[in-house]
Amino acid sequence: MTTAAQSIRELKAPAFSFELLPPLKGNSISRVYRTIDALKDFKPLFVNITSHRDEVVFRSADGGLYERKVTRKRPGTVAVAASIKHRYGIPVVPHIICSGFTRSETEYALIDLNFLGIHDVLLLRGDKAQRDRFYEPAEAGNAYAIELIEQVNNLNKGVFLDDTLAEAFETPFSFGVAGYPEKHEEAPNLDSDLFWLKKKVDAGAEYVVTQMFFDNSKYFAFVEKCRAAGITVPIVPGLKPITLQNQLTVLPKIFHTDIPEDFARALRTCKNDEEAARVGVEWTTMQARDLLDNGVKLLHFYTMMATQSVRKVAEQIY
Ligand code: FAD
Repeated sequence: MTTAAQSIRELKAPAFSFELLPPLKGNSISRVYRTIDALKDFKPLFVNITSHRDEVVFRSADGGLYERKVTRKRPGTVAVAASIKHRYGIPVVPHIICSGFTRSETEYALIDLNFLGIHDVLLLRGDKAQRDRFYEPAEAGNAYAIELIEQVNNLNKGVFLDDTLAEAFETPFSFGVAGYPEKHEEAPNLDSDLFWLKKKVDAGAEYVVTQMFFDNSKYFAFVEKCRAAGITVPIVPGLKPITLQNQLTVLPKIFHTDIPEDFARALRTCKNDEEAARVGVEWTTMQARDLLDNGVKLLHFYTMMATQSVRKVAEQIY
């Protein structure tokens, strides 16, 4: 079986991959299928499926009290990955995160994936809980992506958490990790962030997928710094077409990415979201062309709330 990493390394022509989210709890998988139906013509090299931690919500209860409720709004990463693989035959890359999961829960998810024949994963620390100011690792969970990598490397050697197993199989997981052209929000500086990125690559990550960015010069500078730091694996750029005018202020807050003033001005002068989506498609198409002109082979698209825009960009590129 060719791994996602091998496919990226062996690319000869421009290629396409995209990320989607599992449906909100209570919704059916049909929305996921609609996204894939809209994008499968561009022959995705693989499809990523995100993973989400549980969240705590407080609801008013009788007697002026509050009821604490823990809920996972988007479960189903493993099942969605399996259903896409079997329905479409497209390679899948489910995300495995530390945040909100114990090491045991992570091991069970990896065992399920192994049984399903899914061996490509993206290993991440995961977002903090929405109510928390700072990230807190789960009790008995991995704190950083590098610890999760260690857990996967152990499974690949047949070392499970349960050390009473007499005959444990060796899993064949292959994995990529995340990188941040504009620095991870918590890193004291970009060099420090690259120090940890290099640790992840040295520990076996075969490629890096970047956080979304809107200024290609930030990506090119990041790749240059990575190469100087000895990070030689493919660095796949992550692109997101803006589809709503308020994303001009929302995306920098959530993803800590700058929006160049030319683009910001164009979005500010839009009369409505329809115009903003058109401007968003033009900007992402310009970014995509520039990346391909500069030797990038694989473009990775974030589809959340942007499937039709990603399709419009892809129609012009592929
Ligand atoms: P890490 O590599 O663990 O780094 C986190 C921070 O700690 C960085 O500042 C780093 O410099 C520093 N650091 C790393 N190791 C150490 C160490 N040992 N000691 C001290 N400092 C350290 N989130 C989700 O919840 N679900 C998803 O599905 C998801 N998918 C994503 C996909 C992509 C392509 C990207 C770019 C991000 C995604 N995220 C997702 C968001 C991601 O989980 C967050 O950005 C998270 O805050 C960091 O994850 P990481 O794997 O980069 O963390």
